[in-house]
Amino acid sequence: MESSEKAFEKWGKIKISQRGTYLNKVADLIEKYCQKIGLIETRDVGKPIKATVGGEVPLVASIFRYYAGIGDRFRNAFYQTDPEYLVYSLSQPYGPVGIIIPWNYPFVIIGLKCAAALMAGNTIVIKPSQSTPCSAYEFGKICLEAGIPAGVVNVVQGKGSIAGNEIVRHPGIKKVSFTGSTEVGKSIMREAARTIKPVTLELGGKNPNIVFEDADLDMAAAGSVFTAYLNTGQICTSGSRLLVQESIYDKFMPMVIEEARKLVVGQPEDTKTDLGPIITKSQYDTVLKYSNLAKRDCSLIYEGNVDNCHKKGFFLPVQIFEVNSAHKIAREEIFGPLLAVIRFKDEEEAIKIANATRYGLASAFWTQNLARAINMAQALESGFVWGNAVHTLFSDVPYGGLKESGIGQELGIEGLKAFMQQKCVYIYTGKDRLTLGSGGL
Ligand code: NAP
Ligand code: MG
Repeated sequence: MESSEKAFEKWGKIKISQRGTYLNKVADLIEKYCQKIGLIETRDVGKPIKATVGGEVPLVASIFRYYAGIGDRFRNAFYQTDPEYLVYSLSQPYGPVGIIIPWNYPFVIIGLKCAAALMAGNTIVIKPSQSTPCSAYEFGKICLEAGIPAGVVNVVQGKGSIAGNEIVRHPGIKKVSFTGSTEVGKSIMREAARTIKPVTLELGGKNPNIVFEDADLDMAAAGSVFTAYLNTGQICTSGSRLLVQESIYDKFMPMVIEEARKLVVGQPEDTKTDLGPIITKSQYDTVLKYSNLAKRDCSLIYEGNVDNCHKKGFFLPVQIFEVNSAHKIAREEIFGPLLAVIRFKDEEEAIKIANATRYGLASAFWTQNLARAINMAQALESGFVWGNAVHTLFSDVPYGGLKESGIGQELGIEGLKAFMQQKCVYIYTGKDRLTLGSGGL
């Protein structure tokens, strides 16, 4: 804590272009160590190596480059309300900020929060999940190797209810950016209220993926399987509810099953693996509980196998259930390879089912009809809406959840502003003396 306060005295004041140079160095080193970081993340989280080395680590490097080049966006407003005043706004870093990270995408989430926080001039205290402590440590080492002064980037390991809570409560931490479950997000918001600390919260989701009769069904089938099983279903934006229009159900579902059949559950370090194991024993038990419940109440329409897997690992087969929209597995965030399929009659019913959730993180729809696409984008209650696509993410486009999926946005200029506080300056250039009774606030 003290090291981040002390380091802020200098880091918050250096030229923006200099911070950009540091960020570019971090990006260079992430690219240089891509294999090593990818392997660490794969072993720590159980993610397939093709996802870490091939996608997630390069993504973090590109986010660092994006923020390194954002210096020209540090511009504020001038106000010409009164010619005798010079009035302008200033955006300044908060100081030390707390960054609390979940286990499912540790390196990516560290990257997208820290690139923006550092570029904005803050110093940072990162607390990764106890289940996945390793990539935060690697990130800290890379920042030091890039020449970022000691104390600017700090990593604290430990239990959320102790180390995480201390970050949220500490008066020296001026802002908290958290990604994790909605329940922990709520408790962070309550704790942050003690010091009126601003929070950015990226929370859970139970996301609808809607397939209309006028969709390109081949693309929709591939996309539906991708979004259901990416990261073994352990992703906040997972399309874990598949809504299929009744008129195409019998044609479309065999196409989905055909796609699901191609998936390989296996050892994360094997380049053929699509789905690795579940993160922990307790998460594995939770997913099994939902699966057993669904087997009892709903119809299991496809189950894959775990033939390639080590018997002692927390591997689960891909499962697809047909459910009704009131069932538990259609309402609760599960975070595992379970897909809940729901039929709908028409657009109106699809929207109603899609929005009938406390969450509002991501939605996707598949249609070739432009008017329908525009209508769906208006009607869906979520921070992301994908049309004929899933999981697209660009560094310059902000993202964040609505409803109980969060507060605030990350990435883009909005993600930078989330790590800056605003000030307004009035400088008087006239000669009038102030007298009481002449107004003011
Ligand atoms: P989690 O249980 O909420 O934990 C997230 C982080 O918060 C961990 O580092 C955890 O520490 C810490 N923590 C726990 N209790 C805390 C407390 N009282 N005060 C401060 N910190 C505390 O989430 P998770 O199980 O790691 O991740 C899965 C969840 O993250 C899912 O709900 C998923 O939807 C969400 N998620 C959201 C997004 C998004 O962008 N919206 C992205 C990824 C994941 P320990 O676990 O080490 O104790
Ligand atoms: Mg958890």
